[in-house]
Amino acid sequence: MASLLLVEDEIAIAETVVYALQADGHTVRHCLDGQQARAAVVDTAFDLAILDVGLPDISGFALCGELRRRAPLPVIFLTAQAAESERVLGFDLGADDYIAKPFSLRELVARVRVVLRRAPDTVSGEATRSGAFEHDAEGRRIRYHGHALDLTRYEYGLLAALLARPGAVLSRMQLMERVWGDALDSGDRTVDTHVKTVRGKLRAVAPGSDPLRTHRGIGYSLDLD
Ligand code: CA
Repeated sequence: MASLLLVEDEIAIAETVVYALQADGHTVRHCLDGQQARAAVVDTAFDLAILDVGLPDISGFALCGELRRRAPLPVIFLTAQAAESERVLGFDLGADDYIAKPFSLRELVARVRVVLRRAPDTVSGEATRSGAFEHDAEGRRIRYHGHALDLTRYEYGLLAALLARPGAVLSRMQLMERVWGDALDSGDRTVDTHVKTVRGKLRAVAPGSDPLRTHRGIGYSLDLD
């Protein structure tokens, strides 16, 4: 299962693509334009992006360049124009594949599989195992009991900070500094709120488990047992 980003402004196409990729076991985030895509990559490390070339606010080619400046990312372009010159431009930009509309969903799903198989090393680093957790610091991803957690940027930061020192109690202040150091709008309850959502995501994977321990008036720690 992979985490995919689809940027496509034609809703009808996007819906069928999302459906087909989800049916193949992937999670898919759909964005309508470059602006939404820029926001999506802030809190999620995707394994692959499928970019429409003709977007309302930017070309898929330019967006590809922007997204890749943040992190390595395999890309498949979708285009209405099957012009040879565009195809060449796409590959010059490092496209991993290029699909002309109209395309069959079966073909798209197959090509996604091929690209994901070909480029696993570019998207994830070594994972460090701690108890039921596997932490890929480079890819900013954490797995719990073998399941990839879908974490927001700050949920990831919080869990990563606690995972770095299993069993140690970190105060709210320490967590604020480590995780929210650059945020301006974080309040008193920010840490508690995020602990709660992370707890929910861990329980969704392993009901009954609660490795996040609350130390009243002091802070939080993570049990690995
Ligand atoms: Ca379009």
